[in-house]
Amino acid sequence: MSIKENLLKLNEEIPSNVKLIAVSKTNPVEKILEAYQCGQKVFGENRVQELIEKQPKLPDDIEWHFIGHMQSNKVKYIASYISMIHSVESLKLLQEINKEAQKKNRIINCLLEMYIAKEETKFGLDYEEAVAIIESEEYKKMQNIRICGVMGMATFSEDTELVRNEFKDLKTIYHQLKSKYFCEDKYFREISMGMSGDYTIAIEEGSTIVRIGTAIFGER
Ligand SMILES: *Cc1c(COP(=O)(O)O)cnc(C)c1O
Repeated sequence: MSIKENLLKLNEEIPSNVKLIAVSKTNPVEKILEAYQCGQKVFGENRVQELIEKQPKLPDDIEWHFIGHMQSNKVKYIASYISMIHSVESLKLLQEINKEAQKKNRIINCLLEMYIAKEETKFGLDYEEAVAIIESEEYKKMQNIRICGVMGMATFSEDTELVRNEFKDLKTIYHQLKSKYFCEDKYFREISMGMSGDYTIAIEEGSTIVRIGTAIFGER
């Protein structure tokens, strides 16, 4: 199927209150433009180097999301335009994002990446680590970042019950953090979960943002 057909199908399946991020990593600018011309304006990349090569060649009104593991010293390259960073997994990174956002006189939306999978290879925080960030004096002083919710990746598995339970765990973490620290904060409302293989389950379990690559652009 073409990019256009894939997007049409996804937009029919995904409820309007769930945001679709087209994950364009490894795909060339031409393919991103093709999706853009079908009305898709939100894209996600997982490597800074790749994003800084593509972004200047593409329309200005694209909303860029960063979804990959991020080194603190690379934040400065994308701080002027990145809309949301889904992969915050340390106070140090959050401080760096805040610092670079301040230089650009803007606010960068962030999600705390939570470790929910039964796979050693995945990144993310556990609940106590997330709490430690939120309760830190450093975080309380930050003016140029906004924690908008949580992100997680389920185990890459055919076992749909395992995947579903991991998404349920992420939703529970979201609600715990929301009620304890963000109940008055209207920006804390996102659960970024669901990829090409598991977005249907993620949406059933309360996802507000799905990150989909393969099901739009084909196999990488
Ligand atoms: C690559 C990637 C996706 C999209 O994966 P697909 O299976 O191609 O949909 C989503 N989230 C993250 C963090 C990724 O790195």
